[in-house]
Amino acid sequence: MGNIVAIVGRPNVGKSTFFNRLIQRREAIVDSVSGVTRDRHYGKSDWNGQVFSLIDTGGYVKGSDDVFESEIDKQVILAIEEADAIIFMVDVESGITGMDEDVANLLRRQDKPVLLAVNKVDNSKRLENAVEFYNLGLGEFYPIASTSGSGTGELLDALIEVL
Ligand code: GDP
Ligand code: MG
Repeated sequence: MGNIVAIVGRPNVGKSTFFNRLIQRREAIVDSVSGVTRDRHYGKSDWNGQVFSLIDTGGYVKGSDDVFESEIDKQVILAIEEADAIIFMVDVESGITGMDEDVANLLRRQDKPVLLAVNKVDNSKRLENAVEFYNLGLGEFYPIASTSGSGTGELLDALIEVL
């Protein structure tokens, strides 16, 4: 039992938007430019009386695709070591990418609980499109919209169940 939660996923899926909504303080830098959050940010949050620490991962380093991808992997490996539960965020607007598949492969090979959050589900059409994320092989997913907060309650209910 522990209460450290890491949010992982490739740049621009909405990790920092979600993080900022939960901690209700703007510590992480959110920008419309992909991957602008460079470091890890820590915050505290609570849901239904359960307090937890939240880690927003960034770590995007400009460079070749190889560097880019290994940086994401590094963040995921750190999260697996450090966290008690992992929120893996993907983006319904872009659909499944190769980088999402790589992260999913890393997460399937370890024992920490993983909650798959399909972000940017802003409307019912996008909710239909979200079913493709079953193909990541991580089971159930939580459709959310970090900008409006839609669906985040269900995700947090599930999160505190695994903490
Ligand atoms: P990060 O790189 O994963 O931390 O992503 P950010 O939180 O910086 O968000 C990247 C972009 O996605 C920003 O322009 C956000 O406003 C946008 N975004 C985040 N959540 C949502 C959402 O629920 N719906 C839509 N349409 N855009 C979102
Ligand atoms: Mg970010």
